[in-house]
Amino acid sequence: MESGGAVKKIAELVRAGAVLTSYVCPACGTVLVRLKSGEYYCARCEKPVLLAKSEEEAKVVTEVYQIKEARSAIFNRILEVSSKIEAAPIEDLPEYTRTLLLLLDAYERLARIGVKEEK
Ligand SMILES: [Zn+2]
Repeated sequence: MESGGAVKKIAELVRAGAVLTSYVCPACGTVLVRLKSGEYYCARCEKPVLLAKSEEEAKVVTEVYQIKEARSAIFNRILEVSSKIEAAPIEDLPEYTRTLLLLLDAYERLARIGVKEEK
């Protein structure tokens, strides 16, 4: 059973005084428990979770995660294009440079969204 570990951990936490909530982890979708400390915790990710107070905020939290993933994907591509530019024949440079600029632009825009959401 794939989620068996998490379920067992949740059961352990509840026995130890944590409360099962109706919230789910924005990263993996596992039901969160509220610890005695008031912190929300994901048993599958094995870490505390920043909890959104409403559905709308839950969506924002999920979006922040997705934006971070998109940024790291774009960053990897930037590195890839950069390394290609080093070895590329001069006539191919305009194409690579255009690609690089588009990637950098996307990266920067995603960074701006990220900053805005974390406020
Ligand atoms: Zn999780």
